[in-house]
Amino acid sequence: MIQITLPDGAVREYESGVTALDVARSISEGLARKVLAAEVNGDVWDAFRPIETDSHLKLLTWDDKGGKSTFWHSSAHLMAEALQSIFPDTKFAIGPPVENGFYYDIDLGDAKLTEADLAQIEAKMKELAKTGSVYSRKSVPKAEAIAYFTDKQDPYKVELLEGLQDGQITFYTQGDFTDLCRGPHIPSTAPIKAIKLTNIAGAYWRGDEKNKMLTRIYGITFPKQQELDEYLHLLEEAKKRDHRKLGKELGLFTFSEKVGAGLPMWLPKGAMLRERLQRFLQEKQLEIGYLPVVTPHIGHKDLYVTSGHWDKYGKDSFRPITTPHEGEEFLLKPMNCPHHCEIYKSSPRSYKDLPLRLAEFGTVYRYEQSGELHGLTRVRGFTQDDAHLFCRPEQVKEEFKKVIELVIFVLNTLDFGEFTAQISLRDQNDRSKYIGSEQNWEIAEQAIIEAAGEMNLKTVTEYGEAAFYGPKLDFMVKDALGRSWQLGTIQVDYNLPERFELEYIDSDNSRKRPVMIHRAPFGSVERFVAVLLEHCAGKLPLWLVPDQVAILPVSEKYEAYARQVADQLRKSEVRPFIDDRNEKIGKKIREAELNKFPYMLVVGEKEADSGTVSVRKQGGTDEGVKTIVDFAAEVKTLVTTQMQGKPANISSGTEAA
Ligand SMILES: [Zn+2]
Ligand SMILES: [Zn+2]
Repeated sequence: MIQITLPDGAVREYESGVTALDVARSISEGLARKVLAAEVNGDVWDAFRPIETDSHLKLLTWDDKGGKSTFWHSSAHLMAEALQSIFPDTKFAIGPPVENGFYYDIDLGDAKLTEADLAQIEAKMKELAKTGSVYSRKSVPKAEAIAYFTDKQDPYKVELLEGLQDGQITFYTQGDFTDLCRGPHIPSTAPIKAIKLTNIAGAYWRGDEKNKMLTRIYGITFPKQQELDEYLHLLEEAKKRDHRKLGKELGLFTFSEKVGAGLPMWLPKGAMLRERLQRFLQEKQLEIGYLPVVTPHIGHKDLYVTSGHWDKYGKDSFRPITTPHEGEEFLLKPMNCPHHCEIYKSSPRSYKDLPLRLAEFGTVYRYEQSGELHGLTRVRGFTQDDAHLFCRPEQVKEEFKKVIELVIFVLNTLDFGEFTAQISLRDQNDRSKYIGSEQNWEIAEQAIIEAAGEMNLKTVTEYGEAAFYGPKLDFMVKDALGRSWQLGTIQVDYNLPERFELEYIDSDNSRKRPVMIHRAPFGSVERFVAVLLEHCAGKLPLWLVPDQVAILPVSEKYEAYARQVADQLRKSEVRPFIDDRNEKIGKKIREAELNKFPYMLVVGEKEADSGTVSVRKQGGTDEGVKTIVDFAAEVKTLVTTQMQGKPANISSGTEAA
């Protein structure tokens, strides 16, 4: 008999060789039908694989990340089976699950796949799935495995096998298809009910451009048709909201191959938007006791040797910059923390000086492979809304609470009403990989849990997700399409104060180490703007939008009056834009709508004579005729309300003042 410990702590006895499916069945048949895989002592396993020793067991369903990825990985095998039956000469390379779905890289010889082929493969997959073939696992000696794929004339599998050690080779078979695979897989093809092959791309074998270009087929599958329909709808919506597309349309930022991939350049409207975001946070931070600092974009290599970054990330970073004569080496700054540690050290600190909160919108540079770059979300140069809080160990909780409050304020002001936070703590079993004293970790972990609790934050706790240098709290926002994004982060750090030998003199005159907290409510300005744009589909909150008001003269005759209106609005801190093209007023209104101006002011003879404007809100509501003063006051009130951190309505143009 063996003991199986379930996630709720319950311990059940089974005969050795019991499977996760058996365990599920012993609980309920309904549960067993939903089980896709299982986590056995932390590793994801086939639900049908015998368990032979006392184990911790978690049953995985579609609602678990591990369940989904097993489902998608199994779907990749199903697609391969379909391909093999339609194109018997196909050679198979690799077919892993990805964040949304799966792919398989295949070699079709000279054949080229078309959209019509995808439909045919999809149909075949559905037909095969219906048979409900089981996925079976078999360990085979390496020589036998190589013989199998040599016989099948599949050079890619043979090459993969040659790189493996004997004794760890497993085959998985469903229907007529056998694959070299570590697994795990779902019990059978039956739950794969809805299938969509989404894309064909090229991919080099083993990601190396010296190798052959293979065909990559992407797909996604679901247990229910409705889930697939919803996913495809979301995909369409996401395309419309792509921040790269919106950034171009709204004139916010651009990229140039000459400047370099992954290095965004902010156009005037985007630069002003950034400045507004920056000023918003800076003012709030000044109010709550942060002190601004400015540090250079490069730092001596020794700085990063001391911080440990050079050892850990050096080989994957931009190469050092050398000086012509003295042989010095500098690095592009990959993070601001080491600079801030040196600022801390620039003067003796007493317990009375703490917490010391140093804040900087610091631009950092990190090397990313060119294939990984994506709009503003994956870049090589970005600006963090960084701050480092140096405090006494007993101040950690209070500081955490203040940062949580700030993050909530920021997210509310930007209309991210729905967010959760993940508390990342140490691995419960293995504590050898963490630096810092047991006592300090206890204090910090407890402080985070309590701070989050006292701030009524919705949290999930993940063990083993802490950084090696300290526990952390990450904020996840849900955007308008229900997608999750990780934005702000708060991290405790015992490592850098140690490495930089930071100290303060305590009340009893003894020397102590401060605790360091890294925090960034936006994460990075680039990423934040990207997420915000996609969240609000380009309809930025009124306080943030580059041009709040489009002034539309009905003809050339009223341009002078339009300029007068604009001047007056600017004096009242309202940001106007004049459309003085020789176009019909109807067209100007339509385009102002498309360009997402929150307000449109139509000015003609009547308005010019009476010193008024005709106000339209985005979305077409007519607000009637108002004096310029009244209109400006209305906009200002709305902006002030929004900036007080009250949940703002995204398309503020449709919300009355
Ligand atoms: Zn597999
Ligand atoms: Zn930092």
